[in-house]
Amino acid sequence: MATASKPIPMPKPQKPLPAPNSDFYELVETLPAEELAVVKQVRTFMETKVAPIITKYWIEDSFPFELLPALKELNLGGVGLQGYGCRGGSGLLAGLVAMEMARVDTSIATFFGVHCGLAMSSIYFGGSEEQKKKWLPPMARLEKIGCFGLTEPLVGSGASGGLTTTAKREGDTWIINGQKRWIGNSPWCDISIIWARDVADNQVKAFIVENKTTPGFKVEKMQNKIALKVVQNGQITMENCRIPEENRLQADNSFRDTAKVLRGTRYFVGWEATGCAMGAYENALKYAQERLQFGKPIGSFQLIQDLLAKMLGNITASQCLVVRMAQLEAEGKMTDAHAALSKAFCTAKCRETVAWAREVCGGNGIVADYNVGRFFADAEALYSYEGTYQMQNLILGKAITGLSAFV
Ligand SMILES: Cc1cc2nc3c(=O)[nH]c(=O)nc-3n(C[C@H](O)[C@H](O)[C@H](O)COP(=O)(O)OP(=O)(O)OC[C@H]3O[C@@H](n4cnc5c(N)ncnc54)[C@H](O)[C@@H]3O)c2cc1C
Repeated sequence: MATASKPIPMPKPQKPLPAPNSDFYELVETLPAEELAVVKQVRTFMETKVAPIITKYWIEDSFPFELLPALKELNLGGVGLQGYGCRGGSGLLAGLVAMEMARVDTSIATFFGVHCGLAMSSIYFGGSEEQKKKWLPPMARLEKIGCFGLTEPLVGSGASGGLTTTAKREGDTWIINGQKRWIGNSPWCDISIIWARDVADNQVKAFIVENKTTPGFKVEKMQNKIALKVVQNGQITMENCRIPEENRLQADNSFRDTAKVLRGTRYFVGWEATGCAMGAYENALKYAQERLQFGKPIGSFQLIQDLLAKMLGNITASQCLVVRMAQLEAEGKMTDAHAALSKAFCTAKCRETVAWAREVCGGNGIVADYNVGRFFADAEALYSYEGTYQMQNLILGKAITGLSAFV
């Protein structure tokens, strides 16, 4: 007896998969239209100019000078700082710019953070009116690039307890001797903010050093880093460098003034860490949507979705934290302890997130070609620089207990 033939099932039309989006709670949308346009410009710059070339530079341990003209055109120098030729805008805008940069490449965000955050803010907070008028405009135009020299070969976390680099006043000149280590941008920049101990009163003072033309100032590029390889870090040696009194930051009198700069920049590392985690997550999610195992995209497996969900949870929590920090900063309420919690929490969550992203990509997570490996390595530097995780928790611990655990 003839049986009616079964209709052949037609393959279901594939629904397009959602594009990875790490701004799940739409925080960028909270910006006013004019500032939102700036963030979008940064995103386009990072995706079209930086993303295609950055892995090559990261592998080669070199800085992409070819990007500087386009970066200058973005007119972002001194974003979040007001006057003196700076870009201005809100603290939230400055944070989102850092996050957008780090989302594509954390080294570029760090280069920019060292220049605009550490170097320019040192002058902005510690400089006299004349110093701000002289140094900030060319730095805002990125014509003069700066670095920030605090850490030394033998003094890292203990910088507040005593720098070994000394400054001795002779008339209107200061004689600086000592070494600095890890100083980002220093192998090629124009202006170094050098923190040194005044031998007369033992207090920390800051000096603007024109490093290309100051006799006795030498920089050796640090080799063999495994993180933030695009940022050029240097070991600086200063032998009897003569710096005019007019280049000493006039409002800085002690390490408290250094800490004021670090308060702002540490909280910024929270934004960078959030961006780094976003970049790793988006790359890992795309990979999970495309990579097939057992005939299916790995993104369809429950255990992979669990990792992706936890990553997005970390990112969203960090984003909400740094956005609130921007509000506290705008209200003039941000304390060292607030900044410490932001830095410690966001970098720790970033470290966890990039490790999960690495895991999602399997073996391909440890080759630079898939981007995730780069975020994975770079997160290690964020976790330790500008004060390690432990130092942030000691600052926070002191504030919440009222008891200092510093040794
Ligand atoms: C990529 C990169 C870029 C950097 N860029 C700059 C820069 O531009 N300018 C600059 O000045 N510096 C820069 N640094 C230096 C950075 O700020 C220091 O590495 C950091 O402060 C830690 O100092 P350290 O490496 O000497 O570690 P150490 O201070 O030797 O610490 C080693 C370990 O001991 C722990 N530890 C230390 N003291 C205590 C304590 N009391 N209690 C508990 N644990 C403790 C630390 O948390 C850490 O885990 C950079 C570092 C890196 C890695």
